Parts: sequence; C-alpha cells; structure tokens
Amino acid sequence: MEHDLIVEGLAATPSGVEPLQIGITDGKIAELKRSGLKAGRRLRDERCVIFPGFIDVHVHLREPGWEHKEDFLTGTMAAVHGGVTTLFDMPNNPEPADSREALARKAELSKGKVADVMFFGGVRRDRLSAIPSIKELVVGYKIFMSQTTGSAPFPLSKLREALEVIGSTSKPASVHAEDQSVIDAASSEVKASSAPDRYADARPPEAEVGAVRELLSVLTRCSADVRVNVCHVSTSSALNLIRGARRSGANVVCEATLHHLFFTRRDMLRSPMLRTNPPLRTDGDRRALLEGLAGGSVDFLVSDHAPHTREEKLSSGAAGVPGLDNYGNIVSWLIKKRGLSPSTVSMVTSANQARFFRLHDRGSITVGARADLAVLDLDSPETASADSVRSKCGWSPYEGKRFPGRVKWTVSAGRVVYEDGVAG
Ligand SMILES: [Zn+2]
Repeated sequence: MEHDLIVEGLAATPSGVEPLQIGITDGKIAELKRSGLKAGRRLRDERCVIFPGFIDVHVHLREPGWEHKEDFLTGTMAAVHGGVTTLFDMPNNPEPADSREALARKAELSKGKVADVMFFGGVRRDRLSAIPSIKELVVGYKIFMSQTTGSAPFPLSKLREALEVIGSTSKPASVHAEDQSVIDAASSEVKASSAPDRYADARPPEAEVGAVRELLSVLTRCSADVRVNVCHVSTSSALNLIRGARRSGANVVCEATLHHLFFTRRDMLRSPMLRTNPPLRTDGDRRALLEGLAGGSVDFLVSDHAPHTREEKLSSGAAGVPGLDNYGNIVSWLIKKRGLSPSTVSMVTSANQARFFRLHDRGSITVGARADLAVLDLDSPETASADSVRSKCGWSPYEGKRFPGRVKWTVSAGRVVYEDGVAG
C-alpha cells in the first residue's frame, strides 16, 4: 500500500535506536519496516533521530483570560517548534478550570490546533464533591500547596480528603509542593533591594522539602489508591524523599523542568527574567536532577511553560519562564552534553507520561499509535534567540545559549506541523 507519509531514519525506542521506516496513513502509524515502504511524501535525514512526539505534562497556555501572554494558537505553535505534540494545560486561569463549563470552553478554544491539548482540572477546597463531575474532561487534577499565579494555597487539612476523592476518579493528581508558611517567614527576611538570586532564599529549599514530606505522609494515610506526580522538583533533598517513598511502595512520580536542569541560582544574578517557583537552586541540586533523569528517579521532562511579557517580568517580578520553544534544544543538550541516551530520552519525554496518565494511543513508535513524531537533528547547533520564539510572550530564558541540536520536523497526527523553521 502507499502511505500518506513516510518518516525514515534512526528511531528511538525504549530498547535502543534502530533504523526504521515509519509508514503513516490517516494520522496513525500504519506500518514499520526496515525498507520497502512507499508514500506520497518522505521525510529523511541521516543525521536525525526520530522520537515519539514529546508529551509535556506541565504547561500554562493562559487562555482564556490572559491572552496577552499566550493563547492556544501561539502556545501550540511554540510546542511543535520544540517537538511537543501533546501538552497538558494547567487550570490556574482567571476563570479556574474547575467546572464542566470552564473545561468545555477550554476544549472548544483549543480545538484544531497544531498540537493536542489536554487539561488538568482545578481543585477547590470548598467543593471537593465537584471533583468527580469533571473527570471525563481532564487528564488529571492539579493541587497548589502554595500560592501561585491566579491560585490560593490548598489547605493541608483537606489534602488527604482531596487525594482520596481524586483517587476515586482513577485520574492522577499533580501537586505543586511548596509550604506557604515557610515562604512567608523567609520572604519577610529577604529585602526587595537584595541581589536577584536572593529570591531563592525567599522560597528556600525547606519550603519544598517540608511540603513534599507532608504530601508523602498524607499519601501513605490515604485509603483510596491515588497516583501522585510531584511537580517541578528542584532540590536533591526532595528528590531523595520521593525516591525513598517509592522504594516503600508509594505510587508517586516526579517531574523536572528544563530550567531547573539547565540553570542554577547564580544565573539569576545575570538575568532578572529567571525568577520561577520553585526558584533555581544550587549546582548540586541541578546535578542531582540530571542524575535522577538519567537514572530513572525523575520521570517526566517538563517545560512548566509559564509565559509572562517582558514588561510583567521586569516591572512586577512575575514568576515563571517560557520553555516550549526550546524543549527540543534542551533534549539535544541532554543527549550531546549530558550523556543521556536517546532511549532514556524517549522514556522521560513520552513513554513514562503515556503510561502514568494512561494515554494508550501515544508515547511510542508502534503500529496503531497516533502518528506524533519529533525528528531532531542532533548535529545542527542552534543559538536560541527571541526572533525564533513562537510563544506570544516573545522571549526565551535561553537567549544567547548555543545548543548542539534542534528540531527538524514535528509530525502531529500525521501532519507535518513544523519544518525547518516553519510552524503551522
Ligand atoms: Zn506550573
């Protein structure tokens, strides 16, 4: 048979890298062979490695309500620029995504874009009984243990009950674990006039470590079986706690962000734009996260794409950085400079996500799967710049950084949605 499209070259699978022809028909992977496939169109470049399309489980696309920062069109264009074909949008909009109406609206607004958008449901402390009512509309639930953009802290006293109700839906919970009382006490000691990297002391490691400890302790007391993802782990101590809990059988996984893997708090001295929650940490913490990613104790590579305009960053010190545009660049850096194998990368960018969030139609290069692919040229250095950013915020924390490689093609449900500098 003649396929719509063939993507051909070295393909990354959990067991290694192998030469493959991927025959795509009607948006799905229809046939896999070493040679002999026919198609109307063929993508092939000997230098490239083909990955399952990246699944980014932590993204803030800001629509509806903050369209001056980002919307579903620009956010998904940024995603495919970075090789991301599926992304999970967070609920902390001005109108929180915690009701059927709000989620239906988001689903409508995000339809037909170049990447597939799924949603986390918000959890309101005063309406835990509403959690099951949105379960078919969400991929999981998000709980903020501390204050964040557009969201108040979730009280510890209600955490166990919330997790048990979430467990009853069979969907997982992603938890932002920082302790607001520790942050409040530390912030009062850090003066506004302090050096920029002192922001890391205003949200100290203990805020994360304490909250993760509380979360894991609550998890062991839960009567329902609930799967928990600890968002953007930033410290080696918190990672060790999660590792320990897992060894004792807890159903917990964790994610690391592009920026916590790439930068340290020292970089904040150079750029006031690098303020994030949790903040950038020491080089020791960064190395622990990199080792965790290589060794299997960090499950997901995420952008925590949190676009704000330059003006908002500089005038009000808004926390969060964009990252979707550079996801593929960071993957090239992990492989070429940090020694991660392509098969490990395929685990932390798609296979683990598909398994944990039970997306049975994607996350690997197999016959019958959605034809979502990220084709990376690992030997075509690229210097990140504001000009190449598709995100509406128009800037990147990596501006001026030279990466060993870049995304060459992104295929989403069989469509070539990004090609050598052209998204859409
Ligand atoms: Zn976030």
